[in-house]
Amino acid sequence: MSRLALHGGEPVIGDGNALPSLFPRVIAPRAYDYIREVLDSGFLPIRGMASRFERRFAEEHGTAHALSASNCTSAIHIALAALGVGVGDEVVVTSVSDYGSLAGILAQRAVPVFCDIDPDTGNMDAPRISRCLTEKTRAIVVVHWQGLICDMDPILEVARARGIPVVEDCCQCPLGEYKGRKAGTFGDIGCFSFDAEKHLSTEHGGMLIMQDPDLYDRAFKFSINRGGYHVEGFGRKYDMFGYNYRYGDMEAALGLAQLDILPEQNARRVELAARLSERLATIDGVLPLRIPDGSSCLYWIYPVFFEMDRFEADIRTIGEAIEAEGIGGASHVPYYFFPDSVEYLPWDRMTFRREEMTGALSYVSRTIRWVWHDKYSDADIENMYLAIKKVADYFRR
Ligand SMILES: *Cc1c(COP(=O)(O)O)cnc(C)c1O
Repeated sequence: MSRLALHGGEPVIGDGNALPSLFPRVIAPRAYDYIREVLDSGFLPIRGMASRFERRFAEEHGTAHALSASNCTSAIHIALAALGVGVGDEVVVTSVSDYGSLAGILAQRAVPVFCDIDPDTGNMDAPRISRCLTEKTRAIVVVHWQGLICDMDPILEVARARGIPVVEDCCQCPLGEYKGRKAGTFGDIGCFSFDAEKHLSTEHGGMLIMQDPDLYDRAFKFSINRGGYHVEGFGRKYDMFGYNYRYGDMEAALGLAQLDILPEQNARRVELAARLSERLATIDGVLPLRIPDGSSCLYWIYPVFFEMDRFEADIRTIGEAIEAEGIGGASHVPYYFFPDSVEYLPWDRMTFRREEMTGALSYVSRTIRWVWHDKYSDADIENMYLAIKKVADYFRR
């Protein structure tokens, strides 16, 4: 058996066949025209290009409204504020996600109730959400983790039965589909990120989509007018606390152009992931992500599941070994909202029970993942497979 790169052996993926980086990001040709348009206009009309990008984004999703924001951390904050979530309200949120899914809850001084996940999908589901609901629940933030759309029908059934609004965190699945409908159109508000590493990047930025005009008005007032409104003959008045979370026209110009190339990039991402999944399924003890019927995954990250009782090493060592074989960033980094990661929360005063989070603990103790994108070649996919196979073969009992 060949020596692991971790132990000084030759890596499967070396300098000669290194995987391509997500950066530099591919920029759609029309971005330069749109950005020039903004520059030539001298920023008139105000929010002109942002409104254009919003309209286009709403059209793509078939929603009445879209509102751009500085990023998705702020978009989720805006969504919760628009829904009236405030001090002491409980908001159910997944236990495995980016910090941006959580920050808005805390910013509203609401109480996060961390929902366990299905260890095989990485997502929250209706039964697990049900267990988190109390009299005080005012919203559910559903995160489509990895880009895999949650099983929304049962989730909506549970939420609607109790009249609880749903916010969808679609940062990892822009234009992703579940049962023929787009992510972000199931709940009351869908939130998106245009961060440098996200599918559609404008370096940073975010978006909210929704149907309800009142929600839109409240979101606009909170995020752009800083809680203010105009009174004829008086001027500005403020009847609530608000922010300046506005997105720029220059970024919107880039976003408008990037939207043109997103479907093709998404399709390539999915195709490449499917190919790797097919290869990985042939390795004893290694499982690719299984996509439930009716759903889809746009793979912001590509997760690999290890059946840990089949291997002699722990997941951290397996991740380090795979990273050493040349899959950058594949080392084991738990992305979760637990006392050891979000240190400042008053965990002992919360309902959180670590031992009850069996799905999340299982997920994080047997998966590795790395950033996925559409620049990989067929040879890269084969090399990823070979790198993972080498490590799995080495550590298998
Ligand atoms: C990236 C991300 C966020 C945060 O988005 P920003 O635009 O960086 O604020 C939130 N939730 C998920 C699931 C993400 O992947």
